[in-house]
Amino acid sequence: MLHVENVTKIFGQTRAVDAASFSVGEPAMIGIIGRSGAGKSTFLRMMNRLTDASSGRIVFDGTDVLALKGGDKRAWQSQCAMIFQQFNLVPRMDVVSNVLHGLLNRRGTLPTLFNMWPKADIRRAIEILDRLGIAEQAGKRAEALSGGQQQRVAIARALMQDPRVILADEPIASLDPMNAQVVMDALRRIQQEDGRTVIANLHTLDTARRYCDRVIGMRDGRIVFDGVPAQLTLAA
Ligand code: ADP
Ligand code: ADP
Repeated sequence: MLHVENVTKIFGQTRAVDAASFSVGEPAMIGIIGRSGAGKSTFLRMMNRLTDASSGRIVFDGTDVLALKGGDKRAWQSQCAMIFQQFNLVPRMDVVSNVLHGLLNRRGTLPTLFNMWPKADIRRAIEILDRLGIAEQAGKRAEALSGGQQQRVAIARALMQDPRVILADEPIASLDPMNAQVVMDALRRIQQEDGRTVIANLHTLDTARRYCDRVIGMRDGRIVFDGVPAQLTLAA
């Protein structure tokens, strides 16, 4: 499904990601671990095309991802929807509109009349929120929600795009342990029930052990471990 080959990102003197390669065949929950500065975030951003790679290849179902432009690039960005540490919601906009904005990547435009989303889309947004246990928050401003709820809104926005892959950049780093668990449980459930792949940057090994099928360890831009959590002996 996904092949990443020798992907490299150079910022000035820094090789933020250095010839990283890995493949994903079947849907899985994959954790990337490594110290701050190891290149995890840059790696995810290159996969999503938020950052352009300096060299290397990414192939998804036969498509050369790094060559995509315009609408094709946007379509890819919804196939591998991203969530972030700081949720990146529009704080003053209501929750359901935040979720509907996931459709911007797919369709490229806002509805003609502001906020007049097709009823079917609104229904789907509410269903997704319901699945994540936050349908009751649909009419509130995003900023009124707790961090754990906001991250679930961000997951709902990603799901609105029906992605094959969800890229999660430190999804629980801003959350307390209880909310972190709720968010990781939600990601795991979506991964398994829907057969999507989740690739999440995590900074604790414990979280990776608990939730992931596979762990990729990065150090100084390089992949230094790739295997099942049980094989993980040296901290990356
Ligand atoms: P991690 O997510 O593992 O903390 P990052 O991918 O954020 O690591 O960073 C990897 C390295 O690349 C670090 O040395 C960081 O300072 C550098 N880096 C990241 N983004 C930029 C940028 N936009 N400009 C210059 N250097 C960057
Ligand atoms: P994280 O590691 O949580 O992704 P960082 O604090 O490393 O976040 O980076 C935040 C932002 O700053 C990112 O967009 C990253 O690309 C950019 N950045 C990181 N390091 C550098 C750097 N040395 N020079 C310029 N920009 C950087």
